[in-house]
Amino acid sequence: MTKLEVKNLSRTFGSTRAVEDVSLNVDEGELVCLLGPSGSGKSTVLRMIGGFERPSTGSILIDGADVTNVPPERRATGMVFQSHALWTHMNVFANVAFGLKLRRLGREEIRTRTERALNMVGLTGYGNRRPSQLSGGQQQRVALARSLVLEPKILLLDEPFASLDQHLRERLREEVREIQHRAGITMIFVTHGQDEALALADRVAIMRDGRIEQVDRPDVVYRQP
Ligand code: ADP
Ligand code: ADP
Repeated sequence: MTKLEVKNLSRTFGSTRAVEDVSLNVDEGELVCLLGPSGSGKSTVLRMIGGFERPSTGSILIDGADVTNVPPERRATGMVFQSHALWTHMNVFANVAFGLKLRRLGREEIRTRTERALNMVGLTGYGNRRPSQLSGGQQQRVALARSLVLEPKILLLDEPFASLDQHLRERLREEVREIQHRAGITMIFVTHGQDEALALADRVAIMRDGRIEQVDRPDVVYRQP
């Protein structure tokens, strides 16, 4: 089943054509990487899918419904950014539970779901810590948990591990893959690292100058000269 349909999406900023006529279908449970150099339009595409940026033209459908003009909080999408921006005055639990509180869920449900999300990212037992007491990798896991707890149908990740060292990045990559398999969650992962895209993706969409040049399985992309 096609989860996400991106149709002829374009976005200009003044005279800059950031995204030009991008179309992409993502199936349920699929992980697609948007791969391309800095400035090729990856973030803008992701932000439009998440509802944080308005397309100049084109449309976005989730489960067949047009969400082009639907605000982010009603889109069934979740977004994880490169810089996590956790609330430093709240402990880890409160950071993750925040979105559920906004939804006015019951205390018990908030506790269960928050603990489950922390467990998914390997942070069971870290609820009472402050973000400042965690490593960069752990903080980025909290950011991931904060999105997962809301149970998005589509998770959008914008270079989430770019600020971490190589070893940690590889470990978190594995974990994302595991979460994606276990929870069957549809994901779009933006990266400028070819290795990362090839390791993670079911399919890779290669962007250049605002356009998608190619969409293929990693083994097919890798065989290109
Ligand atoms: P990255 O290289 O990680 O994609 P960018 O520097 O492209 O990060 O973008 C970071 C943020 O700044 C985004 O919110 C993007 O929309 C915004 N941005 C990027 N380029 C410009 C620009 N020329 N003028 C204003 N905002 C910009
Ligand atoms: P990438 O994510 O591949 O690095 P972006 O989508 O961030 O690329 O940016 C694509 C182009 O659009 C770049 O030229 C960038 O400077 C420009 N851009 C992005 N966001 C803004 C913005 N808010 N205002 C002006 N220009 C922007």
